[in-house]
Amino acid sequence: IERENRTGRQRNRLVVLAGPTAVGKGTVSSYIREHYPDVLLSVSATTRKPRPGEVDGVNYYFVDDAEFDRMIVEGELLEHATVHNAYRYGTPRAPIEKALAAGRSVLLEIDLQGARQVRASMPEARLIFLLPPTWEELVRRLIGRGTEDTAEQQRRLETAKVELAAQDEFDYKVVNHDVAEAAREVVDLMKVRAAPSRP
Ligand code: 5GP
Repeated sequence: IERENRTGRQRNRLVVLAGPTAVGKGTVSSYIREHYPDVLLSVSATTRKPRPGEVDGVNYYFVDDAEFDRMIVEGELLEHATVHNAYRYGTPRAPIEKALAAGRSVLLEIDLQGARQVRASMPEARLIFLLPPTWEELVRRLIGRGTEDTAEQQRRLETAKVELAAQDEFDYKVVNHDVAEAAREVVDLMKVRAAPSRP
């Protein structure tokens, strides 16, 4: 804060948005992508298959295990983790460094393990934890979206319990009652202005 006041400028921020499965991280991120074009939303690489409607290079870079291994070996990933004991996910480093250098703020929507790795390698990053209004609401959202089978839902709820227990490691908590509201809170923490709304 002090440094910002002295230079009269905002610092470019690297912000991590984490939180349990089905809390709405993806929805909040998409909302931010659409309404706050100044924010660079990092596109992760994953070995998971695309869901209906997901676009390669927009939602994720969908890669196979060999390509994911190559990215690790070449040092192309800022962090990477196996999530829900199934697929691998990682954050490409180059676009983030480029965006920060160009004065843009960057948002990473990643899991708890990834958030911890970013904290360790980039201590200036701000960590935001997205919370569901209640546990019951989280279960309702996970089952309601119907993208996972019952076994996968159970696995994700187990992960969610572990993740919720880590919320105090984060700098900020945002409760996702409403997508637009949660997105605005996240963006406020990034200090980025919204684009003027179009007629
Ligand atoms: P989904 O398969 O539902 O899109 O994402 C599953 C989980 O992977 C979510 O918790 C999401 O935050 C996490 N995730 C997505 N991209 C990354 C990434 O690049 N790194 C890490 N560590 N987690 C990620």
